[in-house]
Amino acid sequence: MRLLHKKRMEKLEGTKVRKTSSNHKSIITIKDIRVGEGYFTVIAGPCALENPEQGLTTARAVEKAGAKIFRGSLFKPRTSPYSFQGTGPEGIEILKSIRKETNLLIESEVLAPSHLELLNEHADIFRIGSRNMDNFDLLKEAGKTQKPIILKRNLSATYEELLLAAEYLLLESNEQVILCERGIRTFERYTRNTLDILAVPAIKELSHLPIIVDPSHSTGRRNFVASASKAAMAAGADGLIIEVHHDPEKALSDGPQSLGLAEFEHLMHDLRELAGVVKKSM
Ligand code: PEP
Ligand code: MN
Repeated sequence: MRLLHKKRMEKLEGTKVRKTSSNHKSIITIKDIRVGEGYFTVIAGPCALENPEQGLTTARAVEKAGAKIFRGSLFKPRTSPYSFQGTGPEGIEILKSIRKETNLLIESEVLAPSHLELLNEHADIFRIGSRNMDNFDLLKEAGKTQKPIILKRNLSATYEELLLAAEYLLLESNEQVILCERGIRTFERYTRNTLDILAVPAIKELSHLPIIVDPSHSTGRRNFVASASKAAMAAGADGLIIEVHHDPEKALSDGPQSLGLAEFEHLMHDLRELAGVVKKSM
């Protein structure tokens, strides 16, 4: 058993993602925002941008509630090809108006290498979703950019597999990588996925990279998002990426797990209180 453990860890030997003995932890600076040890950064916005009214109303509200980064997805990886696939490039106009009207940074998902160039001017952070965690061509191309990247754990990936996927980005010279635990698939079906809360301390033990938690996709249910968020902060996460919609009942994707504006404001209030206890700057 001990030998197996040692063998597993050996795979990370010599990698750039591995925590070194000096205990160094990476802090990612994006304009005036920091992501990493000692900070707690909240990214919030709808599952997908739908139209200007939805994007702007939600953006203004999440900023007022204290979020620093807007989740502004134009491209959606959907299980069914018949489901809403996002606005596509048309949503760029919505991102532009959110930038004009708020001070929020913009975070957006890239599904293909061509999206890196398309979104380069309009996003401050790229997200690589769980389905693309092992899309090595996308990782290599994203690693050549100089934008911070959120890399989500695939729903069946081990910690080591997640870290080795991140290694593709660091190897190409992009060291601004933020990992994200978004729930794994287990036998439990009551929740959409199972939040693997120990991913947070485990990744921190193995790596110097920051790790945030997605309480929306990991639970799939609005009424569990606050518990998952507070658990993430208590476990030492460096932030959250939360789905928020100004009218969740009418959302074109992931309405059941999206918080309404008042619920998000309430959660941010509770998180600020908890941040004082766990000594994180929000
Ligand atoms: C998302 O964050 O929009 C998403 C689809 O989540 P995941 O990639 O974790 O499934
Ligand atoms: Mn979603």
